Amino acid sequence: MKVAVVKNILEANQRIAAENRQAFDERGLLVINLMSSPGAGKTTLLEKTIQLLKGEWKVGVVEGDIQSTYDAERIGKTGAPVVQINTGGACHLDSNMVREALKTLELGNLNLLFIENVGNLVCPAEFQLGEHFKAMILSVAEGDDKPLKYPLMFQESRVLLINKIDLLPFCDCNVNLMEERARAINPSLQIFRVSCRTGEGLEGWISWLRGEMNKQGRS
Ligand code: MG
Repeated sequence: MKVAVVKNILEANQRIAAENRQAFDERGLLVINLMSSPGAGKTTLLEKTIQLLKGEWKVGVVEGDIQSTYDAERIGKTGAPVVQINTGGACHLDSNMVREALKTLELGNLNLLFIENVGNLVCPAEFQLGEHFKAMILSVAEGDDKPLKYPLMFQESRVLLINKIDLLPFCDCNVNLMEERARAINPSLQIFRVSCRTGEGLEGWISWLRGEMNKQGRS
């Protein structure tokens, strides 16, 4: 009986995710579901990405957090349209929360939408929101063992940004081993080593994003 209940929830989530996806596709919008543990640098990546794409594409953000509007306020300062979802305790976003949030964004005015998931390396990987793909951030301070412990996140992501590489001299992290372990789970994973704080490596991420937009004829 328990199994049936969980299955129904996931099916309902899939159905609404498909509706969200249709709404995105009708407007030619590329949508990325951004995941990481708390403090890995999701919001900082978004601030930098919005700045680097300014004048080129219109970027919007859906912010997911258990509580507070802190991240939405940060994104708001960049001038990008943003809406905050407070999950009130839930450790991930689901497609219904996203559908509600979309009502407050002018999707037709955007080229690219990021959905910043709740900081968590586990459940966000299990829920489709209607995104075109998932991207994840892992910071070097979290350790090179994380792909071994949270494989689903790496398996589900198209892109991995290894962040805070400016901290490598101060961390016991073997970044080559980290990459090797991530690729062992997902050989087609696109990996970028970046520092969202200093800006190092971000041009690789931005030019890859441009390629994705061109590929889908969205730019
Ligand atoms: Mg954040």
